[in-house]
Amino acid sequence: MTQPKKLFIKTYGCQMNVYDSERMAEAMGGQGYVQTDRPEDADMILLNTCHIREKAAEKVYSELGRYKGLKAERPDLKIGVAGCVAQAEGEEIMRRQPLVDLVVGPQSYHRLPDLMARTSNGAKALDTDFPEEDKFEHLKARPKAKRGPTAFLTVQEGCDKFCAFCVVPYTRGAEVSRPADRVLAEARDLVERGVREITLLGQNVNAYHGHEKGLAGLIRELAKIDGLARIRFTTSHPNDMDDDLIAAHGDCDKLMPYLHLPVQAGSDKILKRMNRQHTAEQYLRLIERLRAARPDLHMSGDFIVGFPEETEEDFQATLDLIAAVEYGSAFSFKYSERPGTPAAERPQVPEAEKDDRLQRLQALLTRQQRALQDAMVGREVGVLFEKPGRMPGQMVGKSDYLHAVHVAAEGLAPGDLRRVRIVESGPNSLKAVLV
Ligand code: SF4
Repeated sequence: MTQPKKLFIKTYGCQMNVYDSERMAEAMGGQGYVQTDRPEDADMILLNTCHIREKAAEKVYSELGRYKGLKAERPDLKIGVAGCVAQAEGEEIMRRQPLVDLVVGPQSYHRLPDLMARTSNGAKALDTDFPEEDKFEHLKARPKAKRGPTAFLTVQEGCDKFCAFCVVPYTRGAEVSRPADRVLAEARDLVERGVREITLLGQNVNAYHGHEKGLAGLIRELAKIDGLARIRFTTSHPNDMDDDLIAAHGDCDKLMPYLHLPVQAGSDKILKRMNRQHTAEQYLRLIERLRAARPDLHMSGDFIVGFPEETEEDFQATLDLIAAVEYGSAFSFKYSERPGTPAAERPQVPEAEKDDRLQRLQALLTRQQRALQDAMVGREVGVLFEKPGRMPGQMVGKSDYLHAVHVAAEGLAPGDLRRVRIVESGPNSLKAVLV
């Protein structure tokens, strides 16, 4: 009996890349490939890449270099690059790294099996189109096998915002929303396979327009699915938080009280230079309205320090905004020039300044996160258990607020959704007991 071929996928970057890797693995599953977590055992290696920061792109080339020996030992080994670096750099990847057999962009990975077939006689294959056809309609139907209790589900792709620092509009293209009936069908399928929590994904997910009532309309439909206990969504833009979506945070029980809403900076001058199309005041008003709808809403944010022309005063405005919002979690980075983006042409802030500001910003965010976690002690929350913990008899799950929660209790299994009381707060997680 012929041995199934083995596929090793390495995923970089955002949750959408995690979802895309799942779909690419399923597409190659239809060609008889099974996944392996050891590149040395693979017949096909696929890097699903991220282009958001310089370091991320360079990581891809150093990773590819590590496969030189494997390829020399087994010339039939196929190596592919997918994702946003593939889209941004295309043919350049093969020029810089000749051991690469195929390059496929995030909008055309439904063609991966055909591209692989084209490399069988040693030819190279490249596809970084933005195809007319809907990729999801051409992807292989999802397998029926049982799976873990949480899943990502892409509902929207691309972005029309063109923030001055961002490559996404160039690598993922214009905003496209999947029709609501298709999303609902995939969600029902995921619930049948054991999923209890779905996170809706989009580069600008709250610009979703595949349902007449936008993302709020889709969420209300999803909430009707028996067995689906929790709904989350990411990543949003402040300007697309409409009244109905704010209201849904208040009246849709299955929509979790955690919202990732990037703002990037707190200075109106810098927000304008970033082309974020809103002011700090407008963002703070929006947070107020969200918290009026759902008082216990935990906010998460994204921040960039050292954006071109950012002064100490501008940076202070960012710290002031953070102090006003109080974030339960946040992601923060030094500004990184991205080829082809407007901000890359502007005078840069010295690296040492960026390092200093990042440290001060992260110190404030860590204090806030810790204070909000400590305030959870004594409270009762829901936890969806996902996997066994490090200690025997311990299970780990996520709270409604996306905190990692450890519970020592016999008989718990992945997929169990239980009420717990928080008894201890640690640096990055909480301890709890069942109630
Ligand atoms: S809204 Fe987000 S994805 Fe779109 S351009 Fe701005 S940072 Fe990039």
